Amino acid sequence: MTSPVWHPFTQHGLGEPIPLVNRAEGAILHTSDGRRIVDAISSWWVTTHGHSHPRIVAAIREQAETLDQIIFAGWTHQPAEDLARGLRALMPAELTRVFFSDSGSTSVEVAIKMALGYWRAHDPARHRILVLEHGYHGDTIGAMSVGARGVFNRAYEPLLFDVGTIPFPVAGREQATLDALEQACAAGAAAFLVEPLALGAGGMHFYSAHVLREMRAICARHGVLFLADEVMTGWGRTGTLLACEHADVVPDILCLSKGLTGGAIPLAVTMASEPIFAAHYGPERERMFFHSSSYTANPIACAAANANLAIWRDEPVREGIATLGQRQQARLDALATHPRVRNARRLGTIAALEIGGVDGYLSTLAPRLLAHFRDRDLLLRPLGNTVYVMPPYSIEEADLDRVYAAIAEACDLD
Ligand SMILES: *Cc1c(COP(=O)(O)O)cnc(C)c1O
Repeated sequence: MTSPVWHPFTQHGLGEPIPLVNRAEGAILHTSDGRRIVDAISSWWVTTHGHSHPRIVAAIREQAETLDQIIFAGWTHQPAEDLARGLRALMPAELTRVFFSDSGSTSVEVAIKMALGYWRAHDPARHRILVLEHGYHGDTIGAMSVGARGVFNRAYEPLLFDVGTIPFPVAGREQATLDALEQACAAGAAAFLVEPLALGAGGMHFYSAHVLREMRAICARHGVLFLADEVMTGWGRTGTLLACEHADVVPDILCLSKGLTGGAIPLAVTMASEPIFAAHYGPERERMFFHSSSYTANPIACAAANANLAIWRDEPVREGIATLGQRQQARLDALATHPRVRNARRLGTIAALEIGGVDGYLSTLAPRLLAHFRDRDLLLRPLGNTVYVMPPYSIEEADLDRVYAAIAEACDLD
């Protein structure tokens, strides 16, 4: 019998093999047919410290035996209290409040709802959301609304709400972005939502810290809330704990998920500045923040996140990130001279390049690239002809070499 499982972002009609993974450690996946696969994309960007990190595993085990789940509306528990305090201490001081949810998409939905809640209290006419071209913020209806429109969401387009799209700050044409943002902010927007420095699913597009700083300043000038989606860029991906650090900016609202538990269990937080919280605070019940899900701040997930914070505190995570960045740069430099490689680029632990001439998610090169890497026991998942490497920080150098050797071979696919 064929499996009843319906996989995400998978065309079952193509009959592509779907490997069964039994076990994982560090950057390595072990399949049921005995293969040893290098996870070069951190299992979709979540696994920061490597799979099954002993400290995170121990925290999960211990918490599961103590308190597995508790309603979070009007109740609390120690792992959530510890995590909220830990995040407050680690993240910018202006972000005083921690709201829990379960995924990157919901953390963004929550950010949008908080921003609208803020304006409901201050100026209900302001409800327009501004976003950056090529952005990605998740696959729920609201998160799709604020993301790039394309083949992924064409069927749902009638349901997506209208947003103002600011052109991506292409190198050399940054002023056009800043002018467009200035104009849209002056017209009275509620909030500007961005992926700081690196647009992930939209194609691994990077832009400068200078532009991020300018965008933040424009929003501040017009009182437009600045919402940073650091779901991918957070937890060291771009070289610093937050990408916002590169530009020395602090958002009004910050979304974190992916690496929050080290990639072991789903959990997200939306952190907000005091004025956002204050707009929902008072004796009137109708002003409370109307959002929850069944598993909000699940204790086991919070325990895993507390272990992640302890790893950041006690282990040489920052050194590992710097080393991985250097190793990727050296290998990227060697590839950059290949005549079919374009835009070889790196930001922290993320390396990316385009192969060949035709871009796009449905590029005909894409399925052959996927098969090429699969045949070499590598988990890489190019975005069209954009190949990127985003491994766990602990990946062994020999495994990284395997990844880059396969990319070098892929450059000769035609
Ligand atoms: C992955 C991602 C999301 C969505 O997170 P999910 O946990 O998949 O819902 C949102 N924003 C960014 C920038 C992401 O990379």
